[in-house]
Amino acid sequence: MLRNTHKVPRKLNRLLDQVNALNKHYHKLSDSQLKDESRQLQQKARQGRFHADSILPKAYALVRETDRRVLSLYPFDEQVLGGIVLNQGSLSEMKTGEGKTLTETMPVYLNALSGRGVHVVTVNNYLSHRDATYIGQVFKFLGLTVGYNAPDLSFEAKKQAYAADITYSTNSELAFDYLKDNMAYSRSQQLQRGLNYAIIDEADSILIDEARTPLIISGAGKSYAQIYQMADRFVKTLAKDDYHADLETKTVTLLDSGINKANEFFGIHNLFSRDNLVLAHYVSNALKANYTMHCDVDYVIKGGDAYLVDQFTGRVMTDRRFANGLHQAIEAKESLTIHAMSHTDASITYQNYFRMYGKIAGMTGTAHENARELYETYHMQVIQIPTHKPNQRHDYSTQIYATIAAKDQAVLALVKKLNKRGQPVLVGTTSVEASERLADLFAKNWIKAQVLNAKNNQAEAKVIAKAGQKYAVTIATNMAGRGTDIKLGPGVKELGGLFVIGTAMHEAKRIDNQLRGRAGRQGDPGASQFFVSLQDDLILRYGSEHLHTFSTKYQNKHIKTPLKGRLLHRLVSNAQAKIEGKNYDQRRSTLHLDNVLRLERNIVYQQRQKIIDGHADMEKVIRAMIARTIEDKVNQFTAPKKTWNLQQLDEFINDDLNISFPDVKADKPATMLPLKNYLLKQSMAKVGQIKQELSTQKQYEEFERVVLLKSIDREWRQNMDNMEQLKLSVFLRGYGQHNPLVEYQNLAQGMYKDMQRSIDERVARNVLNAEIRQAGVKQG
Ligand code: ADP
Repeated sequence: MLRNTHKVPRKLNRLLDQVNALNKHYHKLSDSQLKDESRQLQQKARQGRFHADSILPKAYALVRETDRRVLSLYPFDEQVLGGIVLNQGSLSEMKTGEGKTLTETMPVYLNALSGRGVHVVTVNNYLSHRDATYIGQVFKFLGLTVGYNAPDLSFEAKKQAYAADITYSTNSELAFDYLKDNMAYSRSQQLQRGLNYAIIDEADSILIDEARTPLIISGAGKSYAQIYQMADRFVKTLAKDDYHADLETKTVTLLDSGINKANEFFGIHNLFSRDNLVLAHYVSNALKANYTMHCDVDYVIKGGDAYLVDQFTGRVMTDRRFANGLHQAIEAKESLTIHAMSHTDASITYQNYFRMYGKIAGMTGTAHENARELYETYHMQVIQIPTHKPNQRHDYSTQIYATIAAKDQAVLALVKKLNKRGQPVLVGTTSVEASERLADLFAKNWIKAQVLNAKNNQAEAKVIAKAGQKYAVTIATNMAGRGTDIKLGPGVKELGGLFVIGTAMHEAKRIDNQLRGRAGRQGDPGASQFFVSLQDDLILRYGSEHLHTFSTKYQNKHIKTPLKGRLLHRLVSNAQAKIEGKNYDQRRSTLHLDNVLRLERNIVYQQRQKIIDGHADMEKVIRAMIARTIEDKVNQFTAPKKTWNLQQLDEFINDDLNISFPDVKADKPATMLPLKNYLLKQSMAKVGQIKQELSTQKQYEEFERVVLLKSIDREWRQNMDNMEQLKLSVFLRGYGQHNPLVEYQNLAQGMYKDMQRSIDERVARNVLNAEIRQAGVKQG
């Protein structure tokens, strides 16, 4: 069986010994001697004279000494070990406060020596900026360049950040830049220069929690109101036995009679053929809107607009819309104005973005719960680094209450008790709403709390840094103040250190542990306790029937004391396990679907890049595209067994190929070959003519480049939109006889071929219809 989490292997400990053997040597060197050593290493690495790993001990010992001189911090052996693990492309699990920021100095330096670029990935821009500035001093001392990349920078500043040996950035900014680079028209519009090595801080948040939904660049879409309305009209004609609606999962599948009715209604052969994908998607949404969604339950209508209602809490959510056309289907159902849906210009999952790097590594306090997934998805092993000093945090067992009100009172009582003695307390919540509710409750009881909701990372970092002072009460959502160290104020150790209170379970046990990890850093004393109520969102959503019976019983009895019982505790943990499983499935499914797109994306992006970099023989490519188009189209319009469509053939020759008078008539099979040859000859002559007219080679190449890139982009966008529709429509037909993923793969393949054909056609049309004027080129 695959071992999921690993202790530090012996080989790594030997490397640590080698680093330690060099400490004295570097300690004796002057600043300029250290810089000299660094320059030599850099030179050799840039000439490719050695592999990074072979100079690891030297490089690490050199950085360690520099850390001491520049930052006045000397990496502990545990940190060196953590750094060795990072160089291997594994995940270092190091507890909060163990000094991950200092740990990264060593592998970042070593891998930056080659000049091929190291990306240090953080969860927010504030942290990127902080680390680039603070830790960056070390790298600058050693002669390397450091850049900071963020969304609010100018293109030039971003470009400079990417050109540096080391680039600090958030994950989303990196992935967006990657996608945008692949929409660019020339090298000068592109930012990145290859994906060499990435070190991901808070790796579990980025690689797991954020990996559930793909990153999307979207553009404004067309409204398609009529199709929504037509699909709506159709599904309203159905009888109960034409479809099957599963109310729990909100999926509707059409049964045979329903499929027949659809074919008849829309005048088509088969709703599920590739040609009708888009239509199938509209029908799917209309079915869902009409037969699983209920007004005033799933959504409400206010002022002519539909708004989502959260299924479990009953709250109206004004800032969110149902995705993928369902909202529009509801608008059609209720005869409201149908709002346009945005469409996808480019998309990628974090999984597939990070898998493109030559090497990735990560650090986090909590990873072993997801070790298997990290291995399966990213081929990263989780290696647990021992803490520098033994952990002294005391984790009290979780208390369960019948109601939120009872739970809040228990939290208040504990906070009061701690606050009276002056012991600092950090209260973690799972939502902004809960933070505010508790802050109100505390205020009514004369306890002043600082509330952090991850709205302003920089300001909040300052507040959270003080959460370890005497009498401090801080309420924070999970992401607030991440990556900021909570140091204990004078006299706080004696009081027992920081006390962390969790006020609800998070969507993963791992995230609960992140919160606990805020206390008891670096061998400090500390404590943690979780409070859960049977009315918490997570329990309402994912608790079993059995648990809900318990809830009703206890709530009816108005019990305010903590609920006891092993079974109850188990049912509560099961609810958390259920959402963990669900999120895992969603990540897998997102990944599997994106994997299909990934192969295509890679090919298309490579084609584009070759054109941009001038590595493609564009004239040859264009001539081949025209030839294929002629071959395909003529065959298509003169397919045997069917009646020849001479009118369409004529249109194709006239309008698309821009060839006015074929002297070969197509009216019997024997005339096919001469016709094709004639068209080929004429169009190739036209290409030659354009080339001559755009006499300088540069002008001609520019023309080719623009035609190719524009055509590829247009069709690729269309393809992505189709894939999006396909994704939804393969799930329309229920699971019974087929596997949606397999079907998705198969149909996607066909769509990809269609796309290639459309690119050929579009290029042929644009080239052959180009009007060359003195000033330049106008595309037809
Ligand atoms: P983590 O990200 O692992 O939670 P940080 O990088 O925020 O930890 O560091 C926690 C604290 O420990 C910081 O205040 C840092 O200055 C300090 N620290 C880290 N490494 C050392 C070291 N080797 N010696 C002394 N202090 C250190």
